[in-house]
Amino acid sequence: MRKKVIAANWKMYKTPAQAQEFVKAFLPLVANHDRDEIVLCPSDTSLSVVIAAVAGTNVAVGAQNMYFVDEGAFTGETSPVMLKAISATHVILGHSERRQYFGETDETVNKKLLAALKHELKPIVCVGEVLAERESGKTEEVLLRQIRKAFEGVVAGQCASIVIAYEPVWAIGTGKTATPEMAEEAHAILRRDIARTLGQEAADAIRILYGGSVKPENATALMNQPEIDGALVGGASLDPQSFAKIVKY
Ligand code: PEP
Repeated sequence: MRKKVIAANWKMYKTPAQAQEFVKAFLPLVANHDRDEIVLCPSDTSLSVVIAAVAGTNVAVGAQNMYFVDEGAFTGETSPVMLKAISATHVILGHSERRQYFGETDETVNKKLLAALKHELKPIVCVGEVLAERESGKTEEVLLRQIRKAFEGVVAGQCASIVIAYEPVWAIGTGKTATPEMAEEAHAILRRDIARTLGQEAADAIRILYGGSVKPENATALMNQPEIDGALVGGASLDPQSFAKIVKY
């Protein structure tokens, strides 16, 4: 049985004080919740306060992005070494907003994935098709291209610590959710490909999350699909009550 991961992507929302306020309200709502792994991904400026606020609890903290080298003249970037140094444990990579607005490519996602693994950060690697690709029947082709490039150089034994997030771009922040069946089908495509390239054991170990307008109202139906190993939640993770309801779907 794969333990599900329920991760919050706060995007560019919340000051450190607001992040701390969230944690204060959220922790009592999920106390003793061991069924799933809970991860909060605030913006970089709130990482340290959130890490301090959840210390000793069942809640982990990750970044929303990082660069792939340890240090250097890369103004504005954060390195895996820096994330490790403040005890972040996870990092979202290749989110569609990074691909769309900040030039993230399959190649940079691959470099970041290898760097995260080298530094023992748990990567949450995002893949997903845009609406035009789905409508022209290219979903499988796009997912296979993204996943194969992202996983170049990854070995089977690393898959247990890698999380993939299938996030159809047309469902992110739009209120449109993939049906459980659509998500299930995309997850099966991804897992079959991991099985083909890295073996069945690796495919059975890797967690594949669904992301795209997950809310308390639709979480149960999505999470009950056998191929869906959790959720990456944007908008509905900003409110402690709403995110706690998703965690406890
Ligand atoms: C996301 O940002 O990863 C996401 C899935 O956003 P939303 O839940 O708001 O669609």
